[in-house]
Amino acid sequence: MKVFNEIEACYGAVRDVQRRGGRVGLVPTMGALHEGHVSLIEAARRRSDSVAVTIFVNPTQFGPNEDFEKYPSDTEADLAACEASGADIVFTPSVETLYPRGFETTIHVSGLTEGLCGAHRPGHFDGVTTIVAKLLNILPADEAFFGEKDYQQLLVIRRMVRDLNLPVEIAACPIVREKDGLACSSRNRYLSPSERSQAAVLSRALFSARDRIAAGHKRVKELVTRIRAEILTAGPAKIDYVEIVDAETLDSLTEVDRPARIVLAARIGPCRLIDNVDVNEDVGRS
Ligand code: AMP
Repeated sequence: MKVFNEIEACYGAVRDVQRRGGRVGLVPTMGALHEGHVSLIEAARRRSDSVAVTIFVNPTQFGPNEDFEKYPSDTEADLAACEASGADIVFTPSVETLYPRGFETTIHVSGLTEGLCGAHRPGHFDGVTTIVAKLLNILPADEAFFGEKDYQQLLVIRRMVRDLNLPVEIAACPIVREKDGLACSSRNRYLSPSERSQAAVLSRALFSARDRIAAGHKRVKELVTRIRAEILTAGPAKIDYVEIVDAETLDSLTEVDRPARIVLAARIGPCRLIDNVDVNEDVGRS
């Protein structure tokens, strides 16, 4: 496994693989790696000759009052996890390397970025699309792997790749969960033991809503009211949103009558947590 801090050397390593006919898979991360990230690296391993992982806490996707300064970081453990899960190339640039003095460009995807996390985190997705575009230029992979955990982000990146004709395939990987259902997240480590057990309510509420939909309940208002109540019954939480949206357009639904996603964001203790589950066409029709 080779670790690079500089752009040119990293670009050269990716191109070397491709010149020899190899396929490169890219896994962008912000570090503090957990089982969710490992599943992405393993998926890339299965589908690529060489796996590249980026570890970069991207300042431009954090708002002024968000946790950029406190975002967890453990480079030594991250490199060990990359090595153990089969990465070949790791890119760990500094902020100055990626955003040198005079940096002035932003990539903005409209539409898909307006609701959900986009409404609660102004500018967040501009930061995401700009850094992902840069990483795809520095590491021009054949395929890039993203988690469904960040469902809106996945759709926004797909849209950017299509709209800008970026020569990369985007692969979606399923959400990896802890034993009690909580979606793995770098931020989970900041939950106290009681907040940690409370946080399991998020996935419980999503899965019970999915069961209710399968049993024939299709009115979004009622489903959402129940999810909110279930979350608040488990303890103090600030719910940013709970919505049931079209799985492709993220448009809000009033009836679950097509492939959909139940998506939520809530703050428990110091952490803003997001989660989602799919509601497939068959479930929607039942
Ligand atoms: P992050 O380091 O949080 O920016 O995440 C990097 C990538 O890992 C993104 O594509 C995330 O969607 C993905 N990811 C994070 N948590 C999970 C999870 N629990 N399951 C699957 N993918 C995840």
